[in-house]
This record gives sequence, C-alpha cells and structure tokens, in this order.
Amino acid sequence: MTHETDVVVIGAGAAGLAAGERLRARGIAFEILEAADSPGGRAATDHHTLGVPFDLGCHWLHDARHNPFTVLAAAHGVRVGDGNWLPRRMLYLGSRLASAVEKDAADQTVDAIFDAVYAAGGEGRDISAAAAIAQAGDQGPYSVLARHWLELMSAAGPAEISAVDFAYYHDTEDNWPVLDGYGALVLAVAGDLPVTLGCPVHRIDRSGRRLRIETARGALTCRAAVVAVPTAVIAAGRLAFAPDLPPDLAEAFAALPLGYAEKVALLFDGDVFGVSERSGLDFVDPADPARPGASALLRPGGAPAALVHVAGPEARAMAQEGEGALVDFALDVLAGAFGGHLKSRLLRTQVTDWAGMPYIGGAYSCALPGKAHLRARLHEPFDPRIAFAGEALGREAYSTCHGARISGLAAADAVIAELEKAA
Ligand SMILES: Cc1cc2nc3c(=O)[nH]c(=O)nc-3n(C[C@H](O)[C@H](O)[C@H](O)COP(=O)(O)OP(=O)(O)OC[C@H]3O[C@@H](n4cnc5c(N)ncnc54)[C@H](O)[C@@H]3O)c2cc1C
Repeated sequence: MTHETDVVVIGAGAAGLAAGERLRARGIAFEILEAADSPGGRAATDHHTLGVPFDLGCHWLHDARHNPFTVLAAAHGVRVGDGNWLPRRMLYLGSRLASAVEKDAADQTVDAIFDAVYAAGGEGRDISAAAAIAQAGDQGPYSVLARHWLELMSAAGPAEISAVDFAYYHDTEDNWPVLDGYGALVLAVAGDLPVTLGCPVHRIDRSGRRLRIETARGALTCRAAVVAVPTAVIAAGRLAFAPDLPPDLAEAFAALPLGYAEKVALLFDGDVFGVSERSGLDFVDPADPARPGASALLRPGGAPAALVHVAGPEARAMAQEGEGALVDFALDVLAGAFGGHLKSRLLRTQVTDWAGMPYIGGAYSCALPGKAHLRARLHEPFDPRIAFAGEALGREAYSTCHGARISGLAAADAVIAELEKAA
C-alpha cells in the first residue's frame, strides 16, 4: 500500500473491481483496499466442498440478455447455461409432491400475490409487501409459496419489503446460471487488478484538501475515493466518515438493509435423489405456515449434492440456533422428498453466513417500507470527491452482481470527471 495516490477504491466486490478496471483503463493511479483475505465479496465460488464449483453468493445472470457479465463470460471462456437449464421445478408440500393441478394453482397464487405487490408499488404506495398482500384478500393455502419467493428475492420478510422498491426492480425471465461460478467469472474479469487484501478501512477523513483513508494497516491520502462497500457496513459504522455523513444520507444507508438469504450445501456419498443434473425443488408446508420455505438446486455440476436456499426472518431465527439447525432443516426438507436414508449418506456440509460477516452484513439490499425513495439519495451529491458504488446503487438492477458492476463503472467515471475538473 502506498501513502498517497489519486483514487482509493474501498471494497473489492464486483462494484469495486469494476471501478478499478475503469481507473486502470484510464491510466489513473489507484489503490483497491479490501477488508477480507480474498477479493470478490458476495461473488464467491467454492471449488472444494462439493468437488465441483458452486457459488456461495451470486450464481444467476439475472436479465441475462442485457447483463454485461453474459458477454464477459463468453470473452473469458466461463460457461453459462441458458434458460433451458432448469427443468420444471418440483414442488413439495410438506413431504408430499404436489400434483400438476396443485402446482399450477400454487404458481397462480404466486403470480396473484406478486401482482398485488407490483400494483401497490407501481402506484407509488410505499406500503409493505405484507400490507399489499393483505389488501388483496386471502389468497389461500399456497400463499406460503409466494412468501418464500418474496423472501428469496428480497432477503426479507413481506413486512420488511417496500412495495415501491420491489416494483422498481427490473425483473425478467432470463435467469441463466454461471456453470463455472459467478464468483469465478467476476475474478476472471478482474484479472490481475492489484488489490490490497486484509485491509479494512475504518474511516474517511474528508476535512482536509486531500481525503485521508484510515485503515487497519495505516493511513493514505488521495484526491478521490470510490466507496464500494455494502450499505450494512456504513449503517453499522464499520466504515465511518469525519465529518459524519449528512443525516439524510446516513438514513438512506440504514433504510437499505441487506437482509437474510443463505445457502446450505450438502454433499452425499452418491446419488440420493435419482434426478437429473441441476433439478430444482421448492418446499413449503401449507399445513404449518410458520415453517420456513426453501428452494433447492439438486446435483449442481452433476455432483451428488444439494444447495438449499433459505431466506427471510424465519430462516434467520433458525440460524440463530446455530449452523446445525439450518443443516437439520435442509436435511429434513430433502428427506421428506427423497427418503430418510439420505441423512446417513451425508459426507460434508457448508453453510454460508453472509449476515454474520462484519464487512458484508447480509445478502442483498431491500428498502424498508416507506423508504424506497431513499435509494436514490445514494446517487445524489455529497462530497464531490467521493462516489458510492455497490449493488444498492445498481438502479433497477439493485441487489444483483451486474447492478454492482454497473454502479462501480459509474462511480469511477464520476471521480474521473471530478479529477479532470480539478486539473
Ligand atoms: C446468497 C446470495 C445469493 C445471491 N444470488 C445472486 C444471483 O444469483 N445473481 C445476482 O446477480 N446476485 C446475487 N446475489 C447478490 C450479489 O452477490 C451482490 O449483489 C453483489 O455480489 C454485490 O457486489 P458489491 O460489490 O456491491 O458488494 P460486495 O460483493 O459485498 O463487495 C463489497 C466488498 O467490500 C468489502 N468491505 C466492506 N467493508 C469494507 C471496509 N470497511 N474496508 C475495506 N473493504 C470493505 C467487503 O469485504 C466486500 O469484499 C446474491 C447474494 C447472496 C448473498
């Protein structure tokens, strides 16, 4: 780490790495400082646990036809599946496979409930998703499936989801898996970009002519900074500013918490499912609506494994009992579908804990009810030498990896323009 440079980028996730890429292309001196011991942030591919690559964080190229990472994957030889990779998903109601009629009814309920939230949001009524759903009336027993999907998409319970923010997200049917790992793709795109690892930034002192970046490994000064850390890090004060952020900006960071969505990876000693590679399974229990729902990807990369996704407040409560509670829950879901014998064939597990990581703080941003307008505040002028980046600033692609990338490039452009103005 040098003692002075032109631009400091804080955070080496998809946003910070994209900013570094742009700065390097423009020949500007910069440093990327990363708290963790590896770059990538929430884009992280595990190559060891299952014997095949799988993503601990992002995996799907959302809006794949317009997603900049789709083209980059092709350029870097990273394999991507298309929309046909997932067969029709199986739906389990408790331990019973839903019939085709039940599955259709459940899908229709999900559509009706999502439409109710989109309608409220589209009309600018910034109520909670829960309130929008309640206003639409009782949607019947399959509404638990809609709750599960809302929780997976937003990493938050319906009572914590702003209808306006939810409707603002640009959703498409094009969700394509990165077969070699989205985390691996983000690192391939970053290439040999220099990153100083194990270097958390504690404070940005902006009182002087130059910014002073105070880190665990000493301080450096710079002319401008791209701050590409999760909203939760700033809201928790793990990255502070001197003088403090203006109250409305601090409120905006707090209004966009990251929420709870985690993955439970389970490796078995052989095929315990009898299904083809990359099958999908959804689980809800209409008889016990308090029981968390789950979705699973079976046999990722052909491995005898499952990735079980859990999200929302019910799953968070379970995690508070310990990692074992999430593993037991995931095993129960799979055992209900494929038989209890699979429990004795478990070889290895890996449970993510994005919410517990102090320099991440959750899964992805979702505005609290009544606070959707504060997302735009992150883009508004603050200190012209500082530009924020990260998925929360990904505009209609917020919460995604490509939204993070787009925001990182935009933040780099903003500080480059500022440097040019000052020159
Ligand atoms: C379980 C899960 C599944 C997901 N699935 C998808 C998906 O399928 N598709 C998709 O598009 N998106 C998905 N996402 C979201 C996607 O991973 C994120 O939106 C994206 O990776 C965020 O990038 P970022 O650069 O904004 O933030 P991050 O990746 O969080 O990077 C921020 C970096 O800043 C570092 N940092 C924080 N504080 C400091 C500090 N004070 N000093 C120095 N460094 C600091 C952190 O360590 C981190 O490396 C998923 C996320 C999760 C958790």
